[in-house]
Amino acid sequence: MAQVPTITLNDGRAIPQLGIGVWQVSTDDIVPTVSKALEVGYRHVDTAQGYQNEEGVGEAIANSGISRDELWVTTKLANGKHERSDAVAELKISLEKLRLDHVDLYLIHWPTPSSGDYVETWKGMQDALDQGLAKSIGVSNFQPAHLDKIIEATGKTPAVNQIEVHPTFANQTAVDGSSKHGINVESWSPLGLGSDLKNATVGEIAQATGKTPAQVILRWHLQKGYIVFPKSVTPSRIEENFDVFDFELSDDDIAKIDALDEGNRTGPDPDNFG
Ligand code: NAD
Repeated sequence: MAQVPTITLNDGRAIPQLGIGVWQVSTDDIVPTVSKALEVGYRHVDTAQGYQNEEGVGEAIANSGISRDELWVTTKLANGKHERSDAVAELKISLEKLRLDHVDLYLIHWPTPSSGDYVETWKGMQDALDQGLAKSIGVSNFQPAHLDKIIEATGKTPAVNQIEVHPTFANQTAVDGSSKHGINVESWSPLGLGSDLKNATVGEIAQATGKTPAQVILRWHLQKGYIVFPKSVTPSRIEENFDVFDFELSDDDIAKIDALDEGNRTGPDPDNFG
């Protein structure tokens, strides 16, 4: 079984760099999908309260018999639950669904700057950390100004910022605004929801390396130092997306993929969402 590299976060904890994401995985599909991933060797699952599938993630983990300390489980605080006290209260509900006594990583899903005070939310995340309900805490979809604000207000730096990144959307401003604080980037929709797989340059590199477009794009994320969790419910693709540790992209290939950035954001703009 391939050994997934880990990345040491700014709080000293080691996260498996590759995992499985389960956004839009239905109630019917969630247990088989996570079970298949765990069987293949994935040890990192990225879910969220908003995905409404934490029960299935918990069921698959419980069925797997894999020891808790070998697993990395991330969940995210739902939008609209941004009072300081919500962070702990909502995490307790998630933990019951996940059948766990802690998550490895707990994220504020979106800053929702116009409808809530994300500084207070961030203080609530620290309460969850202090109570041992989350071992690491971070944020998602935070723009540089949002990061600067919570760090300045609380003195506590998030361990990660989970943001949209894929070849046609480098999101460099948010990457740089995270890196300057020593915050690791987790790239969501790493395949551009599948659309970047059709890119001609990606296809050429895939042909030259004898790998698939998905494997080439995932390698690009890994070699850039991003944490990544592609989503698929198809068993063969779950295997394919994990089979990325037997080749390397050259610096030239990385540069060619870097050059595909065209600002192609597929999700909402975090400054205006919520
Ligand atoms: P993705 O980029 O991982 O693309 C998923 C789609 O790509 C699949 O539905 C499938 O159609 C296709 N695909 C996957 N593997 C393939 C393969 N090997 N060959 C061909 N097609 C393949 O998109 P995503 O699900 O949006 O992102 C991954 C994860 O990131 C999510 O599941 C979730 O955990 C996380 N995420 C977080 C946020 C956030 O706001 N924090 C937003 C979106 C996604």
